[in-house]
Amino acid sequence: ASSNKFFVGGNWKCNGTKESITKLVSDLNDAKLEADVDVVVAPPFVYIDQVKNSLTDRIEIAAQNSWVGKGGAFTGEISVEQLKDIGCKWVVLGHSERRHVIGEDDQFIGKKAAYALSEGLGVIACIGEQLQEREAGKTFDVCFQQLKAYADAIPSWDNVVIAYEPVWAIGTGKVATPEQAQEVHAALRDWLKNSVSADVATKTRIIYGGSVNGSNCAELAKQEDIDGFLVGGASLKNTSYFNELVQV
Ligand code: PEP
Repeated sequence: ASSNKFFVGGNWKCNGTKESITKLVSDLNDAKLEADVDVVVAPPFVYIDQVKNSLTDRIEIAAQNSWVGKGGAFTGEISVEQLKDIGCKWVVLGHSERRHVIGEDDQFIGKKAAYALSEGLGVIACIGEQLQEREAGKTFDVCFQQLKAYADAIPSWDNVVIAYEPVWAIGTGKVATPEQAQEVHAALRDWLKNSVSADVATKTRIIYGGSVNGSNCAELAKQEDIDGFLVGGASLKNTSYFNELVQV
């Protein structure tokens, strides 16, 4: 990890019930979290209010998506204004499931990021290559293109955390090796240095996501350019992963 403050996010995706989330929140409230780590959880929209009302303030709340502009006649969408109203501090954007299952493209995601930032939400900006792209030697091209779409749309990186999540590692149990992750993180930091500024490259946290759990996080966290994690599956099972993750 660099000298940036470590950041650990739990992405609950489209999982949970009132009952299971009550248990998860109670475990999180009991967990001993290291002071020097930002911890954020992203519940499904319908449970955000429940989580906000029961979770310790030590842990911040992210939404898993937000509408691209001001709320209004957009049936089925949730606005940034509403997310702020119920106490969200962050939003996860550009997740691979939204890109590849729902079909969101780089420009749309960039616009969402710009709008969320303009309203004061922090953005967890996800990027990552698919397996065939990695196998074709296109990992850097794909990641740089996705990163550029954010860079072209947003005026500042102050409130942005980049999540590098190789699609082939998400939910598959196939975690990237520490070397594979470090190689991409270093390249992303280099891209920021050359295309945005040296200051942004140094200060922007780049976290890794893709089958992270309590047993593989320590080695990943030792890598120089890995500033934290975005955790899916393991964030639902129990909270031991948080203890593991924040003690490295
Ligand atoms: C994710 O959904 O962001 C993720 C990294 O999932 P998992 O940890 O389950 O691979």
